[in-house]
Amino acid sequence: MSAVVEDIAAPSAKLVIADVSKTFATSRGPVHALDHVSLQVAEGEFVCLLGPSGCGKSTLLNLVAGLELPDEGTVSADGRTIRGPGRERMVMFQESALFPWLDVFGNVMFALKLKSGLTDAERKDIARYYLRLVGLEKFTHAAIHELSGGMKQRVALARALAPNPRVLLMDEPFAALDAMTREQLYGDLQQIWAQRHVTILFVTHNVREAVCLGDRVVLFSPHPGRIRGEFTIQLPRPRDINSVEVAAHATQITHALKGHLENGAGI
Ligand code: ADP
Ligand code: MG
Repeated sequence: MSAVVEDIAAPSAKLVIADVSKTFATSRGPVHALDHVSLQVAEGEFVCLLGPSGCGKSTLLNLVAGLELPDEGTVSADGRTIRGPGRERMVMFQESALFPWLDVFGNVMFALKLKSGLTDAERKDIARYYLRLVGLEKFTHAAIHELSGGMKQRVALARALAPNPRVLLMDEPFAALDAMTREQLYGDLQQIWAQRHVTILFVTHNVREAVCLGDRVVLFSPHPGRIRGEFTIQLPRPRDINSVEVAAHATQITHALKGHLENGAGI
């Protein structure tokens, strides 16, 4: 199966999700979280997974992270089947899950602890570089409890980027933040993505957020979780979530999500 999949994958495909199904056993009976889902993500692409709650977006992200394994099908990165987590694929969740007993610097350094071949001075330089990249250089030695929600997510982003992963997996990372903080982070994330050439898979249920960030927006539908189609977003960057263009694309996608296919771009 995987040999066939690798043959048909585009040469530049970083991630290949091939005919993946996943069912969870629950007290309410089996839940079919993903049903024959296939998706390819190119190196350096920014792909948003969009759909209502419960349609399997997080499950798919966890499969790519190696935190779950598929029942059927294969998930591979660079042509190698993913069988567990790895530092080349880092995850960022809605809750930052920072270590409260370490300061900002300590949290970023922690991610570099197991990275071999680096001196302590090099690790410190790398941690400082990423804290600068996310705009937290002045908060290097702040305690985690002193930070706002947005700042905590910036630390989480620096921590995820510090081991230099080639794939960044983001599961509704800004969903708990206020609109103004989110808007700043949309700008910063687009800049960091362009600068670091990282491949991003970003889960959201916010249509505008998906249009603002994604090269491609992949639409999911629930029960069972399936890909319904996708939109390619060709707006120039950096994009402003409040722009007329983002709003127009978002309206089109909202119609598609509701089943009113006015423009079947790729669907
Ligand atoms: P989304 O992220 O799109 O909201 P999820 O991938 O979290 O969706 O969940 C898809 C479905 O699978 C949901 O019905 C959810 O309850 C179920 N599910 C997800 N993870 C588990 C799990 N570990 N155990 C049982 N059911 C799960
Ligand atoms: Mg989810």
